[in-house]
Amino acid sequence: MTIPILPIGPRFGTFFFPGPTEVRPEILETMQKKMIPHRGAEFEALFARIEAGLRDVFLTGRPVYVSTSSASGLMEGAILNAPVGAILALVNGSFSERFARIAMSCGREVEMLTVAPGRTFELADVEERLAARKYAAMTVVHSESSTGVLTDVREMTAAAHRHGAMCLVDSVTGVAGAPLQFDAWEMDFVLTGSQKALALPPGLAFAAASAAYVESAKTVPNRGSYFDIVEFDAFAHKNQTPNTPAVSLLYALDAQLADIGREGIERRWERHEAMRAATERWVYRCADRLGIPLMHVAPEGARSPTVTGIYLPKDVRSSDLVKAVAGRGYVIGAGYGPLKDTTFRIGHMGDHTLDGLHGCLEACEKSLRSLT
Ligand SMILES: *Cc1c(COP(=O)(O)O)cnc(C)c1O
Repeated sequence: MTIPILPIGPRFGTFFFPGPTEVRPEILETMQKKMIPHRGAEFEALFARIEAGLRDVFLTGRPVYVSTSSASGLMEGAILNAPVGAILALVNGSFSERFARIAMSCGREVEMLTVAPGRTFELADVEERLAARKYAAMTVVHSESSTGVLTDVREMTAAAHRHGAMCLVDSVTGVAGAPLQFDAWEMDFVLTGSQKALALPPGLAFAAASAAYVESAKTVPNRGSYFDIVEFDAFAHKNQTPNTPAVSLLYALDAQLADIGREGIERRWERHEAMRAATERWVYRCADRLGIPLMHVAPEGARSPTVTGIYLPKDVRSSDLVKAVAGRGYVIGAGYGPLKDTTFRIGHMGDHTLDGLHGCLEACEKSLRSLT
């Protein structure tokens, strides 16, 4: 398979942190353009272009809401606007646990279906919980960035629907890196952030919601103001945002969406899949042939195309590896949450390329040799 790449150099990128990720200099430069008012024709033209680009990323005919916040803001928004009633939270790592805690902090009754970090969910277990009582909604993380586990959110959405619940999906390290089709998969609510597979600076979050979700939201009391999805929906139809957006970040988004359009969303998914597979082969090669006992956190078949979590040899701490790799010019992530010290994470998302990733893996390999 030949991997088409964005207009960037062959060994582009050294920042393989699992979010934020590398932002190309030409995208950063667009942020220096002059300010414009956010009520007016110039802004509306910009916003209309952005909407078209985002719809091609989420694969939806629905508006895609643009929030000036980090992704957690729209996690809260997903909950605040969700149908009234109990929430089932699928928890398999730190970010899915955060989703559950956000729901609790909004005063929702939350029950968790928890599996160990590094695992995903058996459909039968999810169905059993959904059948046990009436839930208004279920939360799930598409790509659990703390472990690198990918969950089949199409399957989870269908399961929730069979039991009359809506499915709220955190696809922060999914959208623009892992396949996701909002309309074809009949999804209810999907959110993401700018600083992950979209390869933009942090500060924006995006969400699509079904017409049914928005209709239902209109009847939800105390859904707050800043993340009121009904407001986002009304303003998106006017090519505006409810409040003053981070206009400079929208310039960067506009430029980046044009490049994503040139690459094509499916080819973008393929490039991420190729980076996942290359990282997987490298882990196996270290373990089988090089005497460096590495192990994936995620099981085969459920590995995210955007981030790989890897168990370290027993005598190596993640902070030491991160430091050694930095000495070779690359940034990777330590583990996260309970896996902080014993694992490390490589973020192969956004505009990163196979060639760039090979440079990073080489730096990891040399660093591991020096530490073991
Ligand atoms: C990064 C991340 C978040 C949090 O995003 P913020 O922009 O820091 O609020 C939530 N969920 C997942 C899966 C993430 O990777």
